[in-house]
Amino acid sequence: METVRTVADLRAAVKGWRQEGHSIGLVPTMGALHPGHMALVKASLEATTRTIATIFVNPKQFGPAEDLDSYPRHEAADSELLAAAGVDLLFAPSVPEMYGDDFATGVHIDGLGDIFEGSARPGFFDGVATVVAKLLCQAAADSAFFGEKDYQQLLVIRRMAQDLNIPTAIEGVPTVREADGLAMSSRNAYLTAAERATAPMLFKVIADIATRLAAGGGAADLSQEGLGRLIDAGFTCVDYLAVVDGETLAPATRGRPARVLVAARLGQARLIDNVAA
Ligand code: AMP
Repeated sequence: METVRTVADLRAAVKGWRQEGHSIGLVPTMGALHPGHMALVKASLEATTRTIATIFVNPKQFGPAEDLDSYPRHEAADSELLAAAGVDLLFAPSVPEMYGDDFATGVHIDGLGDIFEGSARPGFFDGVATVVAKLLCQAAADSAFFGEKDYQQLLVIRRMAQDLNIPTAIEGVPTVREADGLAMSSRNAYLTAAERATAPMLFKVIADIATRLAAGGGAADLSQEGLGRLIDAGFTCVDYLAVVDGETLAPATRGRPARVLVAARLGQARLIDNVAA
């Protein structure tokens, strides 16, 4: 696996593959790779003949009080994992390569980008959409792979690609979980042992809500009860726990695919999760 750090080198590799008739998959990440990321890699390897993984801790998607400086960075270990999995190219640009001093453009997704994670983390989706738009333009891949773990992010990126006529197919990959149900996340490293023991409650609560919705339960009552269970378990600051439409994230209506979304703080970590309902 070759590692490139400039857009010019990325484009040169892509151009060569296009001339050879390859199909190309893109897997954007911020590194600190775990089996959740590797599921995206596997999906790309299966769907295309050349896979590009990217590692870029994107400063534009971190708020001023967030963990940009402490975000885990282990490029050497990540690179070994990607190479062993069969990734063809790692694109790991510097911040100046992605954002020159005079960088002035931002991408904002009205509506979908303003609710839930968008209101809890102002500027977050603008940062995500801006960097993903750049990566999609830089790589010009056939398909790009994103985790359902960040369900709203997947919808925001789909909306953006559609609105901007970016011809890369946006593919969602199911959430990879620990044996006890906790969704894998680079930020789980922030949990103490005691918090780690509590963390699976997040998934348990939303999975229970999904089961009881299917049995005819009401979304408002189930959400209220779930909120109480999270607080009792030791979560603080539940930013949202909601049953929403699986496509629009508007309040769910019976007969359409729904999603249970949650974000809550546990110690220093802010955890998010979701399930289909
Ligand atoms: P990140 O490095 O956290 O920005 O995540 C990069 C990509 O990996 C995003 O598309 C995430 O949704 C996806 N991802 C992160 N954790 C998981 C997981 N547990 N299962 C599936 N995909 C994941």
